[in-house]
Amino acid sequence: MNNIEHKNYNDKSYALGATGSAIRELFEFGKKRKQEIGADNVFDYSLGNPSIPCPDIVNETLINLIKNTDATLLHGYTSGPGDMNVRNSIASYLNKTYGCSEKGSLIYMTCGAAASLTVTFNALIASDSDEVIVFAPFFPEYRVFIEKANGIVKVVKSREEDLKIDFEKFEGTINENTKAVLINSPNNPSGVVYTEEDIKNLSAILYKKEKEYNHPIFLISDEPYRELVYNMDKVPFVTNYYDDAIVCYSFSKSISLPGERIGYILVSNKCNDAINVYKAICGSGRSLGFVCAPALFQYMIPSILGYTSNIDEYKKNKDYLYNELKKIGYDAIYPDGAFYMFVKALEDSASNFSERAKKHELLIVPSDSFGFTGYVRLSYCVSFDMIKRSIPAFKALFDEYKNK
Ligand code: PLP
Repeated sequence: MNNIEHKNYNDKSYALGATGSAIRELFEFGKKRKQEIGADNVFDYSLGNPSIPCPDIVNETLINLIKNTDATLLHGYTSGPGDMNVRNSIASYLNKTYGCSEKGSLIYMTCGAAASLTVTFNALIASDSDEVIVFAPFFPEYRVFIEKANGIVKVVKSREEDLKIDFEKFEGTINENTKAVLINSPNNPSGVVYTEEDIKNLSAILYKKEKEYNHPIFLISDEPYRELVYNMDKVPFVTNYYDDAIVCYSFSKSISLPGERIGYILVSNKCNDAINVYKAICGSGRSLGFVCAPALFQYMIPSILGYTSNIDEYKKNKDYLYNELKKIGYDAIYPDGAFYMFVKALEDSASNFSERAKKHELLIVPSDSFGFTGYVRLSYCVSFDMIKRSIPAFKALFDEYKNK
């Protein structure tokens, strides 16, 4: 008889499944509360689920594909990394839009940004000492993806005043174990967008450190919100500024298709050892079971590249909500992109503040889960009507603190 302890499941996976995420918990609470008091009486800012429908071209293309394509092809397997014509069409679109020179042969089709990220981390992290730098506040799943791939998360806190990169702290955190730096612009949860100058400064530091340590430091750019920008034409495309770049893209947010699970990984053509990095991406996708992303949605892509949902509605929501909250007396980081607003909590503990907001039927996510203290995240991808109706609740919550 062997005395090795038998386990029915993996401890790390169990812990992840048993705890869930703070955002989802609040969302589930909201669902229950809506049943109890009526959906109109709950002001649910919890989830980043696009509220604007995808443009008509999406359904028109799908119908056309279904009517005019052989079903065994349409619903059959594509190549593991994705259909070559689709990948070439993405590369051509990127090259035309951003003036880069990327290749379809270095694109790997995936199930959204989540799969793009987890495949990329598993492809790159090669030893237990490999570190990935993330900037707080950050999307909570980053920690899950990096740690499951055996990487170490190194958090660099963004500047308190504008949530941009603190370059001094960033440079001080890079060391010989730094394998990659992860950025997300436009950002979840803050709505902050990095300018060209930000990306240039970041790249200059990375080039300097690559030279110092004599190995590549990858810049991974998580871009599900790439087209959701309000005050600039386009976000700077990272491969134009830094060679060792990998882009993790998703069609979930900008074109409102989160349930269809479609996105891609692009290894820059200029990346050090690009072909072998790409092979590692393919192997990682293979081992994680992310091969042959949903075929119907791959075939849709060439027709919808360059389209977005009507973001004027998000802009209207953002401007109204920001101005109303400011009028009441709240302090918020002005968001230039995505559909999130980071608002300062009225006490040190964001969790307590979020709990007190619940009493006013306001569901706002405490910033602790994003690796940052003292704020709450509001997802304003909701109806304009809900935002309007929620303002008195924000006022009542504010007065409660003022009159303490
Ligand atoms: N990265 C960020 C910053 C996100 O906000 C999200 C989803 O909310 C994801 C990745 C995952 O996106 P997807 O639904 O495409 O997997």
